[in-house]
Amino acid sequence: MWSSSFDLHCHTTHSDGALSVEELADAMAKQHVRVWSLTDHDTIAGWDEAKVAAKERNIRFVPGVELTCAVELPWDENILEASSRNRPPSSWHLLAYFPYNPIPEGLNNFKDWLSPLQDDRVPRMLEIIDKVNGFGMKIEPSDVLSRAKGSVGRPHLAMAMVDAGYVESIDQAFEEWLGDGRPCNVERPKPSLAEATALVHAAGGITSLAHPRYYGVDYETLIQHLKASGVDAIEAFHRSHSDDERHQLWKLAEKYGLGITVGSDFHSFRGGHRPGHMPVVVKSLPALISSA
Ligand SMILES: [Zn+2]
Ligand SMILES: [Zn+2]
Repeated sequence: MWSSSFDLHCHTTHSDGALSVEELADAMAKQHVRVWSLTDHDTIAGWDEAKVAAKERNIRFVPGVELTCAVELPWDENILEASSRNRPPSSWHLLAYFPYNPIPEGLNNFKDWLSPLQDDRVPRMLEIIDKVNGFGMKIEPSDVLSRAKGSVGRPHLAMAMVDAGYVESIDQAFEEWLGDGRPCNVERPKPSLAEATALVHAAGGITSLAHPRYYGVDYETLIQHLKASGVDAIEAFHRSHSDDERHQLWKLAEKYGLGITVGSDFHSFRGGHRPGHMPVVVKSLPALISSA
């Protein structure tokens, strides 16, 4: 059975989305989403608010988060180019989904593990801005931090650099200054998929690799790696995927006994984006989701 009522990947002002939790819940309801997961970057700050907002709108809520993990396989330039990615990945994104009531002890351990990842975002940004200033580009930290309504990231700094006229585009800011291996980036160790997944499992949750087309890795190799890392599913039905790609990933996931997930990766209404409206095969969703 196919259903368009699931949307398991989206962002609010708790990370880099434009809408508040309440506004996003409204958008989900309006687009007929019946099972919704909020997956802000490296934070679960929106859960309580989202549980209330979902209940009021008769939507089933799945607590989620999008974890910034290490790049674990080399990318192939040709595959990256074919998927119109203009820069190599600086991280892999792992979606984590929890039961409505996670295992308390496991959830506490997960929160303890998550908070340094989250709390480090501002200190790291200040170090990056220092480096940018060191190259003669005067950017005030307050200008960058004020652009982020939730957790701050390099795109916020890139916007400030564009507005100040130091670069022409966000892409240029990344390519010349802020991207991985570029002179102003500050690297911090990132968790592995296996480490993150073990913590999520201990709280009763599951994981799914987000937007697999962004990593420049052959899909079969990627899925074998996920399987070996204990990851439960792959986001075969991401907004950026063509029907062919969804089908190919779905069949490969089946072959290796992995689940699939579906997500709009909704950040804002800009460019005509909207949540929901992504038909998915319900029986291929992980049980935690299909029985939510
Ligand atoms: Zn992502
Ligand atoms: Zn996302």
